[in-house]
Amino acid sequence: MLATRRYDIKYVKGIGPQRAQLLASELGIHSVYDLLHHFPTSYIDRSTTRSLRSLFDAAAVDVAMVLVRGRFVSFNVLGEGAKMRLVGLFSDGTATMEVVWFKGWREMRKRLRAGEEYILFGKPGRFNNTLQMAHPEVDSPDSLIAGETVRPVYPLTEKLRQRNITGRVIHAAVMSVFANLKAPLRETLPPSTIAENRLLDIDSALRAIHNPTDNDTLAKARLRLKFEELFYIQVDMLRRSRSRKAGTQGYIMPHIGKWFNDFYSQCLPFELTGAQKRVIKEIRADIAGGRQMNRLVQGDVGSGKTLVALMAMLLALDNGYQACLMAPTEILAGQHYETIRSIVAKIGLNVKLLTGSTKTKERRLIDEQLRDGSLHILVGTHAVLEDKVEFNRLGLVVIDEQHRFGVAQRARLWTKSAVPPHVLVMTATPIPRTLAMTVYGDLDISVIDELPPGRKPVATVLRYDEQRAKVMEAVRRQLDAGHQVYIVYPLVKENEKLDLRSVEEGFAKAEKYFAPYKVALVHGQLKPAVKDEQMDRFVSGEASVLVATTVIEVGVNVPNATTMIIENAERFGLSQLHQLRGRVGRGADRSYCVLMSKQKIGADTRKRLEIMTSTTDGFVIAEADMQMRGPGDIEGTAQSGLPFDLKIANLAQDGQIIQLARRAAESLLDSDPDLSNPANSGFVMALADMLKRTTDWSRIS
Ligand code: ADP
Ligand code: MG
Repeated sequence: MLATRRYDIKYVKGIGPQRAQLLASELGIHSVYDLLHHFPTSYIDRSTTRSLRSLFDAAAVDVAMVLVRGRFVSFNVLGEGAKMRLVGLFSDGTATMEVVWFKGWREMRKRLRAGEEYILFGKPGRFNNTLQMAHPEVDSPDSLIAGETVRPVYPLTEKLRQRNITGRVIHAAVMSVFANLKAPLRETLPPSTIAENRLLDIDSALRAIHNPTDNDTLAKARLRLKFEELFYIQVDMLRRSRSRKAGTQGYIMPHIGKWFNDFYSQCLPFELTGAQKRVIKEIRADIAGGRQMNRLVQGDVGSGKTLVALMAMLLALDNGYQACLMAPTEILAGQHYETIRSIVAKIGLNVKLLTGSTKTKERRLIDEQLRDGSLHILVGTHAVLEDKVEFNRLGLVVIDEQHRFGVAQRARLWTKSAVPPHVLVMTATPIPRTLAMTVYGDLDISVIDELPPGRKPVATVLRYDEQRAKVMEAVRRQLDAGHQVYIVYPLVKENEKLDLRSVEEGFAKAEKYFAPYKVALVHGQLKPAVKDEQMDRFVSGEASVLVATTVIEVGVNVPNATTMIIENAERFGLSQLHQLRGRVGRGADRSYCVLMSKQKIGADTRKRLEIMTSTTDGFVIAEADMQMRGPGDIEGTAQSGLPFDLKIANLAQDGQIIQLARRAAESLLDSDPDLSNPANSGFVMALADMLKRTTDWSRIS
């Protein structure tokens, strides 16, 4: 099996050097191994060709890939220069279709014969009331691959299609690899894991996924291949955390001292919740024990994670260490810095902020104080990870984040001192359990499952643009009662200009409508100084209304703000809406969140917005979010924390397989803790191979 990684695909029948190069650059397929792991996304039954007539009716709607069978009536070369194209008129007796080639058409013209029967595979469309198909795969009916009953549909790029590297080419290459194998592919999972979980062997699984004989076998093949990916991750994570617990020494921090006690008696304006106390106890037990802490604190928006993190840092200080808190953005870092500085002002802690935009002079001072140990807490962005940032005695690192920090980046912290600092990771929003298990599988998990007392759930409603007048009246009543209001607009990269205009228009309207109340405006395009000034106007209460883009999503804390209007709510994701809503309901007064949307929205969008109006529980929302979002979305966020890209498993949908893989990983490491059993050697090699890109990191941690 592993040997297939070393076979260059250019030697596979039907590929050759040119195609190999394209497959590498377009799909990242370099070796035979990569080829065998380029999985079909779906299958088409070879026996079901569609009639052109039926397509004609359906083509207005978005029809997926189809097979049609018929003959070319004529060929015409149309257009000039770069627009030259070959158009074949194709008929199956029920209707005709134009088949167009913009690229590689000379070759097609030579290859195809009018009057001969062909099977075309492609995506039909309708143009000027004519049925069309561009760059289909073309087969002659008798050239079917032996034994092929369904046609796998492979992910391809437009460029590959244009160069006639079709799914059929890939499929034929895969089949030729299997035909030429002298022996079955060597197993990559431990035999005990296969047996205990009744998994298909790798050879059968790969054969079945590329050429399934029946649905049952296909399902087993998919399960096996998904399981395998997730299993590598679980074994890796579990091995890290076990070896760390067994081996890695951590700073011993047994004392509770002046900083912690002073803070408790002088700075803490309220009782800690039971959940906060419990989590602080868990942290204390970790850092006093002599092993390195790696703990994730999960909790809903407003559950008081920052406070827990701060108290953990005070414990580090009490034991003679420095602490640092890292946030994913400058805004969030700045916010944390302000919060912490103001809350500890009474007790004289030295707290400083370091980001990419810290001025040289301040930066020098920070460096100096970090090195001589007089700086207690450093708050910052990734900038604190830079090599030139040197601490005197860094004992604890707090990472406040949202899936942005991978295992590898966490591991990088270890290199900052001989003994690794304790690490506390806080999620900005709750994430579902199975996702946490995967992305943070190497961490111990604490959950703050209780909100500070007196919080009333934010009353959330969905309103359409037609009802705007009523909404504005309600806002006005809140202002008259002395409260403040957020009005939030989406700002998405793709249509930044349009979005910017709508937030600016919204600001102008609000100024006019709510006068004499003052309105502040904040968005990402403002200069930092202007942004701060505008923000301050709202925080100080001078401005009653804040019109803003999502820059306020993280951080801002204005308890007097009781109402949030979210414009174009249909354009926000669930987690984002939840984060935004978390900005209100922070004081004692009843709070409101109004999701404004156009009347015409899709069923999915409506469902998403209705989840927001039906619950304020972040864990419920996170779970729903994961179920509803496509794998692509999850890829962008959660997957960045994984040691390799998932090819077939889907973190959103494969929760059960994740749990299965977790249990299997535990069972394997229980019976063979250092994976030295010769029976597992195939797996050990496969695992090392999968993690190759991150081996340096795994060794460090
Ligand atoms: P999170 O980071 O979990 O979203 P924060 O730490 O920002 O939440 O806390 C939200 C708000 O709740 C802050 O204003 C904080 O001062 C306040 N808070 C935290 N813990 C308590 C508590 N035990 N009782 C009352 N208020 C609290
Ligand atoms: Mg927070």
